[in-house]
Amino acid sequence: MTQYDYDLFVIGAGSGGVRAARMASGHGVRVAIAEERYLGGTCVNVGCVPKKLFVYASQFRDQFDSAAGFGWTVGNSTFNWTSLITNKNQEIERLHAVYNNLLQKSGVCIITGRAQVLDAHTVAVDGTEYSAERILIATGGWPSVPEIPGKQHVVTSNEMFFLEQLPKRIIIVGGGYIAVEFASILHGLGVNTTICHRGHKLLRGFDEDIRDFLAEEMIKKGIKLLLNTDIEAIESTGDCFAARLIDGSKVSTDLVLYATGRTPNSTGFGMEKLGVELDTELAIKVNSDYQTNVPSIYALGDVTNRVNLTPVAIAEGMALVNQLYVKQPRPVDYDTIPTAVFSQPTIGTVGLTEAQAREKYPDIDIYKTSFKPMKNTLSGIDEKTLMKMIVVRDTDRVVGMHMAGTDAPEIIQGMAIAIRAGATKAVFDSTIGIHPTAAEEFVTLRKA
Ligand code: FAD
Ligand code: NDP
Repeated sequence: MTQYDYDLFVIGAGSGGVRAARMASGHGVRVAIAEERYLGGTCVNVGCVPKKLFVYASQFRDQFDSAAGFGWTVGNSTFNWTSLITNKNQEIERLHAVYNNLLQKSGVCIITGRAQVLDAHTVAVDGTEYSAERILIATGGWPSVPEIPGKQHVVTSNEMFFLEQLPKRIIIVGGGYIAVEFASILHGLGVNTTICHRGHKLLRGFDEDIRDFLAEEMIKKGIKLLLNTDIEAIESTGDCFAARLIDGSKVSTDLVLYATGRTPNSTGFGMEKLGVELDTELAIKVNSDYQTNVPSIYALGDVTNRVNLTPVAIAEGMALVNQLYVKQPRPVDYDTIPTAVFSQPTIGTVGLTEAQAREKYPDIDIYKTSFKPMKNTLSGIDEKTLMKMIVVRDTDRVVGMHMAGTDAPEIIQGMAIAIRAGATKAVFDSTIGIHPTAAEEFVTLRKA
């Protein structure tokens, strides 16, 4: 007879938790999953999915503007924010039903409510206790806003998906993924948009050419960048807000969005009492098998704060189940994880930046091109494309590819496979291009 109610109790039905639960159940493991807020977690509810729907919405303005160059006369176009939110909410509801179905069909027991871990093998949800041989913490993260006077006036990305109305003006604080993506979305929807960032450039960690290029393109479109500065305080001035910057100047706005990173959801549900080790940024510490210092407790995804992306949380879920229940370890390779920023223009990147490659290899060659994409010869849109490839000279291996321009994420996904397969520059050179595309530039880069 089995000693526990479940073999695996998953806390958090987001990207990582759902994949681990479904896959484990498919291998005959008795699984329960507890979710306090929404099935699908951050990605489905307040992340990737609604964000991408907003990105599509925001791209229409450029498309309407482009149409005339191709002979179209477009009628008077107007945008209705409420319709977008309603339609987006309907789609998310549909996804909730899909997730519910997938979990049920896989035989996972869904428990709704906030889970508390009572001991190394016991979880309580709404007063009911469940025992489990193993507990998986997949509780994700939450937006973090620094303590400043007037903090109560600001919103985070969570609220942006449910705003009752679009502001006329917005200040977005931060220079990372969320700041840059929301700046492009809001600007595209006609909001007067200002980014206020403490750093000297956006997107720390990305290739320098991409960082410079994106900033130039954003400025050209009319997004204001306030760099090397920060907000000291925010005051309500009746119907709007005044943001006081560190140099004493004030900027008036209708909304302030803080996109200043996310904190792992690792406290307040029993980890402290159990002595589960956290790092200084509150991420749950795990070994290479996703195991915490309490042997029956595992953690993955954003709560471990490593590479905070949905496909990574999913891959970790699968790796854990393979390791524990299939006994065929297939560890996640954290090298060469491709990533995209859905700004305008979009960014796609995989492998090393030029700076990282210069540190790692004595000699590298850089292939780079910047051009006006064919569509923009007639569209009247002044947006360029940048493509960059980094090659190790003595092995000819391509170790980094970076692109900013239309469809960059779609193009770089394919390039990521080539890089993982160890493609050399010679392989790229011998590949026939698809004409006329922007992607073909990656197989016709001749001069370092
Ligand atoms: P989550 O998806 O956050 O799931 C955690 C779940 O645990 C939540 O549903 C939460 O309610 C639940 N939970 C927490 N505590 C408890 C408890 N005690 N009891 C019960 N339930 C609990 N990534 C990409 O790859 N591409 C993108 O384009 C992208 N865009 C993003 C845009 C935004 C605005 C944001 C915020 C994130 C975006 N991400 C994107 C990141 C991506 O959403 C996360 O990396 C991913 O969701 C992490 O998955 P997870 O399973 O670790 O956690
Ligand atoms: P990021 O870590 O990407 O960026 C945070 C930004 O806020 C940085 O520019 C940082 O500056 C700045 N910042 C941090 N703390 C402060 C502070 N106290 N005061 C002022 N500025 C501050 O976080 P995001 O919130 O943008 O996104 C969270 C994560 O979600 C991302 O890292 C990514 O993993 C994931 N995500 C992925 C997306 C995608 O795949 N397309 C889209 C959206 C999110 P500095 O650079 O100086 O540290």
